[in-house]
Amino acid sequence: EVVTRFAPSPTGFLHIGGARTALFNWLLARRAGGRFLVRIEDTDRARSTQPAIDAILDGMRWLGLDWDGEPVFQFQRAARHAEVAQAMLDSGHAYKCFATAEELEAMRADQRARKQPLRYDGRWRDRDPAEAPAGAPFVVRLRAETTGATTIHDQVQGDVTVQNAELDDMVLLRSDGTPTYMLAVVVDDHDMGVTHVVRGDDHLNNAFRQLGIVRAMGWAEPVYAHIPLIHGPDGAKLSKRHGALGVEAYRDELGILPEALDNYLLRLGWGHGDTDIIDRTAATALFDLADVGRSPSRTDAKKLENLNGHYIREADDARLTDLVAPRVAALIDRPLTPDDHALLLRAMPELKPRARDLNDLADGALFLYRTRPLPLDDKAAGLLQGDAPVLLATIAGELAGVETWDVAGVEAALRVVAERAGLGLGKVAQPLRAALTGRTTSPGIFDVVALLGRDETLARIGDRTA
Ligand code: GLU
Repeated sequence: EVVTRFAPSPTGFLHIGGARTALFNWLLARRAGGRFLVRIEDTDRARSTQPAIDAILDGMRWLGLDWDGEPVFQFQRAARHAEVAQAMLDSGHAYKCFATAEELEAMRADQRARKQPLRYDGRWRDRDPAEAPAGAPFVVRLRAETTGATTIHDQVQGDVTVQNAELDDMVLLRSDGTPTYMLAVVVDDHDMGVTHVVRGDDHLNNAFRQLGIVRAMGWAEPVYAHIPLIHGPDGAKLSKRHGALGVEAYRDELGILPEALDNYLLRLGWGHGDTDIIDRTAATALFDLADVGRSPSRTDAKKLENLNGHYIREADDARLTDLVAPRVAALIDRPLTPDDHALLLRAMPELKPRARDLNDLADGALFLYRTRPLPLDDKAAGLLQGDAPVLLATIAGELAGVETWDVAGVEAALRVVAERAGLGLGKVAQPLRAALTGRTTSPGIFDVVALLGRDETLARIGDRTA
């Protein structure tokens, strides 16, 4: 069975790098019919917060990254981590180190002076703990291999080798008995049955140390896959400077659909052929670590916008209406009535082809709810000058006679006007659109007229002919 996990530290929101890691783990598990687990790495008590935990889990739910079982909270497992450290002491794979902080500082100062790498020198490795003063505090250190090399067959990075002499005897348990991060990760992954560790390549160095613990315990080694971090459009590691956002900002502020963000995150680092649009079903069938690139991918706002536009066009009208209604309400500063809502739903097929995000969609719907007289943008105001009022009066006269107020009825009337005036339909549509929407772009003019209804249409035209 394939078991993967997402192990965020809850010190901030779910950023897109974390979301992508979660997605890759989710896809790998679902593809194999395995399990996808979540572990909250909350051992940094000062920086871990409940709002961050909520934001991460909410973000995952929104993205459709459902996990199996309950999230594991690392801090609650401290006793188990200490138990493993004790087992390693008992088996001789770990030892107690009584070196004081001052002593270690002096050791490092000496190494610095000699221009040597700063590294614990193993001074308690072979000493008898009985030599330490009674009751002296100690840490527990791994008795690491000192010769040979360790190779990780990373599914993304390929074979990566480190000389064991470069890895020192790291601390497993601090003098207050709390586990270090390295120990906690390994114990938790083992106890959770994790078979594949997929995470950012900033953890690649940790993998060698973690493998030392795995081997000392004689546990099954996980498959590792370290994925390149996401970079900004300038090629530098993604940071706040790039306006790096949490997924909730993509949802709330940018109006991105979750399936669009999922598809975008998937394409940041994973490719299959040259198509950008790969929905969840296709991704679940195709995902393979072998197709994860080794070089960092860059964020691309344009690509996200295009994907979002695609998924908006594909999305169910009722769902979009529910998502957009609050945004429209915010724009017009009043709640939508049930009739307003029904109108939005009816308009949706005409509105959604032109929208790149939900804010756009709300903005496009605005003309339906504006109160008269409509505010005009500059271009629209320009179109309403000169002969326009006369033409609009003719249009109003013809529309007044329409019997069935639908797209076909409206179209027939407007064609009659165009023909009589010897104008192209576009010339008729331009001032009419300006009068009805206050803008020069909108859904098709017949749809606009049909959606607004007879009374509102004639009233808005009347505002420009008087
Ligand atoms: N908690 C770590 C992080 O947030 C991830 C550790 C891991 O995946 O092994 O970066």
